[in-house]
Amino acid sequence: MRQLLDEAAKGGYGVGAFNVNNMEQIQSIMEAARETKSPVIVQASRGARAYSQDRFLYHLMIAATEIYPEIPLVLHLDHGNSPETCKSAIDMGFTSVMMDGSLMADGKTPSSFEYNVKVTREVVEMAHDKGVTVEGEIGCLGGIEDGHGAGGDGLSHLTDPEQAIAFVEQTGVDALAIAIGTSHGAYKFSSKPTGETLKMDTLIAIHKRLPDTHLVMHGSSSVPKDLQDVINQYGGKLKPTWGVPVEEIQLGIKNGVRKINVDTDNRLAITGAIRKVFMEKPEEFDPRSYMKPARDAMKKVVAQRMTQFGQAGHAGDYKPIPLDEMRAFYQGMLASV
Ligand SMILES: [Zn+2]
Repeated sequence: MRQLLDEAAKGGYGVGAFNVNNMEQIQSIMEAARETKSPVIVQASRGARAYSQDRFLYHLMIAATEIYPEIPLVLHLDHGNSPETCKSAIDMGFTSVMMDGSLMADGKTPSSFEYNVKVTREVVEMAHDKGVTVEGEIGCLGGIEDGHGAGGDGLSHLTDPEQAIAFVEQTGVDALAIAIGTSHGAYKFSSKPTGETLKMDTLIAIHKRLPDTHLVMHGSSSVPKDLQDVINQYGGKLKPTWGVPVEEIQLGIKNGVRKINVDTDNRLAITGAIRKVFMEKPEEFDPRSYMKPARDAMKKVVAQRMTQFGQAGHAGDYKPIPLDEMRAFYQGMLASV
């Protein structure tokens, strides 16, 4: 991931990080990547790892590298809650991990700065020694994702730029998730958010002070109305809601955001496509009759985001560096400190 984000910084674009739980979601992302010639970050949360089982996930990702050899591909752990969770992911073959020390290991209680530095530093040492990239988080995002999160509206624990700088210096993380008012899940905002609701000035201030740290935007689904409408048109009951407008993400990308986490939009696309088949063809019972349109619907959203984030067309820019070479890269960084 470090290489992929460094390349994105060089090229001035962002890279979507899409969550997966099963084969169809991985296929959707890989097909979108091939169509748009995009490098890819696939991420799995603890919930996803439990749902799909690590070994299934691992072998599905190996299949993706075999079928799509032209696509640089990262398997990233989303919101690791402890060094042990990160270690199990690294042992299993993840090439990047997030240590979310902004919360205690219960994944709910906001932690102290000292605790966050301690656990994140521990993961950085362990991961870099294997050539694996680390994302940290400072400030707490709102909402709850797969049972992980501080809850609330995303404004309760915003990132303080001074703390962000100290955190990066003391931990050596490659990428940093910051809390600027976004939250996990579908219900992010009750009206269309502006650059002020989203605290874009905080993001810009952090990037100015940390120009070499790759910033990460979590909870960055746009929750488009047309995807909500499909679900509600075919019997769903979503309440009106707003996500993060793509133009705000693009402003973030101009200011150091390199990784953009998107999950809800894909969930909406899948659910809408399945509901449509169930309503229009109630006689169907072959799972493929609704999984195929679901896969196509997710692929469409992913391809659109890849184009909007600017990663489209960049898959062939570089050759992925193997982990042992990345290990040497990190050792060189240590030697130069
Ligand atoms: Zn997140």
